[in-house]
Amino acid sequence: METIYALSTAPGRAGVAVLRVSGAHAVPALEALTGAGVPPPRAASLRRFIDPETQAPIDRGLAIFFPAPASFTGEDVVELHLHGGRAVVAGVLAALARLPGLRAAAPGEFTRRAFENGKLDLTEVEGLADLIEAETEAQRLQALRQMEGALGKLYEGWRARLLRALAYAEAEIDFPDEEVPGDLIAKLGPEIARLQSEIGAHLDDGRRGELLRDGIEVAIVGPPNVGKSSLLNRLAGREAAIVADEAGTTRDVLEVRLDIGGVPVTLADTAGLREAIGTVEREGVRRALARAEKADLRLVVAAPDAGDFALARAGDIKVLNKIDLGAEPPPGVIGVSAATGAGLEALEAALKARVGSAFEASEHPVITRARHREGLAECAAALARAGQGSDADLVAEDLRLAARALGRITGRVDVEELLDVIFRDFCIGK
Ligand code: GDP
Repeated sequence: METIYALSTAPGRAGVAVLRVSGAHAVPALEALTGAGVPPPRAASLRRFIDPETQAPIDRGLAIFFPAPASFTGEDVVELHLHGGRAVVAGVLAALARLPGLRAAAPGEFTRRAFENGKLDLTEVEGLADLIEAETEAQRLQALRQMEGALGKLYEGWRARLLRALAYAEAEIDFPDEEVPGDLIAKLGPEIARLQSEIGAHLDDGRRGELLRDGIEVAIVGPPNVGKSSLLNRLAGREAAIVADEAGTTRDVLEVRLDIGGVPVTLADTAGLREAIGTVEREGVRRALARAEKADLRLVVAAPDAGDFALARAGDIKVLNKIDLGAEPPPGVIGVSAATGAGLEALEAALKARVGSAFEASEHPVITRARHREGLAECAAALARAGQGSDADLVAEDLRLAARALGRITGRVDVEELLDVIFRDFCIGK
């Protein structure tokens, strides 16, 4: 396998830039780049970095050596902490490129190697990706938990139990005359039912994890001129939408990203819902309706002089804007004034309560991707069939499918394990 290298910090000017090299040639590369011996493992050592051909100095910085297998990728890894200047980074990258057995890493290649060397399972890889993408506190926590293996452990735990059940079913098939109880399949029933209910409960999570990853969509809906754009601006705390006196100026869907109680929220101001005259406006209304339809939460806005809550459905937050004009909000409606800022706190609190309640801190790790949900659904379906079956061959096949569906989520499908389980639990053949 080739040795790979890449700049691991963001490109551009910075105080420090970190370069990583992974593979069998990492140590020779470090020796060539420093003209010195390998530093002690896992300790930051001050080094002068030189051009291996001309011996000309490039920079002075730290070198850290992580010997295999105790490294991120599982291979020998060398980290170079350089000064984050463009010429410094370019100089070291060019020097690395000229060394034998080294090439620039492809995107995600370090993590790919970590997975292939069993350092991370697929859910941990995804958690790491999410952690790097995380914009809010709640996203960060969810990603960190997943990166630390909470989801992977849950699935591997279920898979281990499935493999054990499968081992019993296999034993029934392969060794019918051995000292194995004859009613194995009947005995598997309760365990299959337990697994079904645990996986069912995990699937029935209101898509919390996926929502948190993607962010919550909140649509502001209502007829023109009730002050939707003004409200969005107020909530965003900045001028994000165009506010004008003329009806129908919000021609498209405008959106701002907000952090509400640690949850990323996309607040979309939609074009006024009314009979559109111009084609541009009609398109805007169509998009607005589509957007409002798929939003996770809707703020239905009316004003004393326009609109009502006829559009509002159960679960919508109803807002009466322009209370500065002297109107009282009816019960169940939050009165605000985008002009004066009155009532904004109550609206923000309502938003926070609604958004936050979807993410009540749970002891259990949650599904964060459609990929997990699909695998789990496949697993649950196979389990349901296994629970109904009485023929050992068919039950075994369904259990195998169920285990494989989970194994695909973590990326650890391995038939050898099945044999291990059989021999550990049964001592067949003695
Ligand atoms: P939209 O069409 O629903 O997006 O409404 P806009 O935000 O464009 O506002 C329409 C008009 O109402 C503008 O002239 C705003 O200045 C005015 N407006 C918005 N909010 C308030 C408010 O709270 N009080 C008063 N008096 N006028 C407002």
